[in-house]
Amino acid sequence: MKEVKPSRKPLIFYYFVVLLVVLLFNMLVMPVMTQQSVTEVDYGKFMTMAERHQIGEVQIQDKEIYFTSKDGETVYMTGKMDDPNLVSMLRESGAKFSQQVVNDTASPLINLLSWILPFVLFIAIGQYMSKKLLEKAGGGGNAMMFGMGKSNAKIYVHSTEGISFDDVAGEDEAKENLSEIVEYLHDPTKYTEIGASMPKGILLVGPPGTGKTMLAKAVAGEASVPFFSISGSEFVEMFVGMGASKVRDLFKQAKEKSPCIVFIDEIDAIGKKRDGQLGGNDEREQTLNQLLTEMDGFEGNNGVIILAATNRPESLDPALLRPGRFDRRVPVELPDLKGREDILKVHAKKVKVADGVDYNAIARMASGASGAELANIVNEAALRAVRDGRKEVSQSDLEESIEVVIAGYEKKHAILTLEEKRIVAYHEIGHALVAACQSHSAPVQKITIVPRTSGALGYTMQVEEGNHYLMSRTELENKIATFTGGRAAEALVFDSITTGASNDIEQATKIARAMITRYGMSDEFGMVAMETVNNQYLGGDASLSCSPQTQADIDRMVVDLVSRQYDKAMTILRENREKLDQLASFLYEKETITGEEFMAILESGSEQK
Ligand code: ADP
Ligand code: ZN
Repeated sequence: MKEVKPSRKPLIFYYFVVLLVVLLFNMLVMPVMTQQSVTEVDYGKFMTMAERHQIGEVQIQDKEIYFTSKDGETVYMTGKMDDPNLVSMLRESGAKFSQQVVNDTASPLINLLSWILPFVLFIAIGQYMSKKLLEKAGGGGNAMMFGMGKSNAKIYVHSTEGISFDDVAGEDEAKENLSEIVEYLHDPTKYTEIGASMPKGILLVGPPGTGKTMLAKAVAGEASVPFFSISGSEFVEMFVGMGASKVRDLFKQAKEKSPCIVFIDEIDAIGKKRDGQLGGNDEREQTLNQLLTEMDGFEGNNGVIILAATNRPESLDPALLRPGRFDRRVPVELPDLKGREDILKVHAKKVKVADGVDYNAIARMASGASGAELANIVNEAALRAVRDGRKEVSQSDLEESIEVVIAGYEKKHAILTLEEKRIVAYHEIGHALVAACQSHSAPVQKITIVPRTSGALGYTMQVEEGNHYLMSRTELENKIATFTGGRAAEALVFDSITTGASNDIEQATKIARAMITRYGMSDEFGMVAMETVNNQYLGGDASLSCSPQTQADIDRMVVDLVSRQYDKAMTILRENREKLDQLASFLYEKETITGEEFMAILESGSEQK
């Protein structure tokens, strides 16, 4: 093993730090420690007090005069004036002015402390540092000051007690994909015999909170191998070159412990496309280059498997994705209905749940929720049960906590005028009624018009639409009409419109724009893409890729499309004006309406006709 002497540089750095500590201590801490509560008064008051013989002791300093009251209890301070009569005045007042006034019995001690403490610190840190440096030098070079070049990767799971695939609910495709890795780690010979080599890197791609980290841990747990985890952002340090050295260090450790799993979370922090722009991030690029070199450097079958997670796969550098590096991509999508039910059950095991809770119903309500949100829902429900002094989590706890997690807490004391409340009721019913008249089924699970902390004035729980992957043009148009229904109802009933529809407008526009620019649903453009999606997993922004003239055309068509749907919604509401009034006043009274109640009211009238 080669011996490397710790470099001299760290010591200079170290002296510098200690000096800084001493200075800071004296400048910042000392004044605070010695300060006594001093009342600041003006010079006039000082003179008056002197004349009235109310002064005990006086200490005259450079710029200030400190003095105490006769009983010595209060300390005053005033600015020093160029007053020739000061001394005679003080003598007349009978104050003592030879002594120090500011209480400083403690001050010699503190003074001493302020010098000794840093030295104690100095020695302690010195000891620690030299030990560290020696350790590092002994470990084979790469001694860096303050251990900054060392990777923070830590062995996370100890094989058996780790997380297993059973803890990750849903995500069956991802698990199936990864179980091959587990098999390989168990028995590599089976693969090497035939000459197959495992992918070195696997990219877990999906929206936040879907269990990517959990899956990586589960692979290590299932295969009973060590698990190194580090976040991409941890590589990026203040000093250029540190990140690269961390990468080297990480891979060195991993190779020693192989077979093992190395998990790099948020890999986009280092793996972003290198764009070669001026003032690009040197440190990040060096780190990435080092990572690429390391991945090329080791053999396919040496037992180190790198899992990386990201939710912006499109921003990754192509070099990172080429064969031999992260060449396998495992999508980890938001869970479907069955998946949500399973995730709820997994997390419900950790809390006491009453018998007969219908997880399927909860999963239906929580459509679109990620695994992390579902875990949060279960926890919120348990908290609610405790708040109400119950020992078990009930169905209604879970139902309420969905609304809490998705829309925020109820604002119990929100000040909504009665008029506003009426408008909100009409607005929400407007959406629901338009939806119901188009689909002929219950459009919502529930609508409440209790304001939420998220800022929503009402909350609509959508019906789970089941798993369907295609949307027809008519469905999309109906959706837009539904979004415009809220505003249409306001306009129809109150003849005035409010700001409450801003979110609806945004959503409707998004759909309309996508129909024209991406789904080829306009008569004019046909199947030409005018937009590309950037962040599929983080909201899905799109960027236009067409000429300015076309952009203007698109804008016009979007306006046309949305306003056509608005007219349609308006017609529906006009034709069902009676129902609209009935439903809105029901919601206004009760503040909550369920899907069944909604349909009951909607259908009651039509039977009479
Ligand atoms: P990601 O890495 O995808 O952002 P995590 O793996 O960190 O998400 O998940 C965060 C938390 O959400 C986990 O600790 C777990 O409690 C919960 N969770 C997410 N997905 C699942 C799942 N499929 N099954 C069970 N729990 C999950
Ligand atoms: Zn609305």
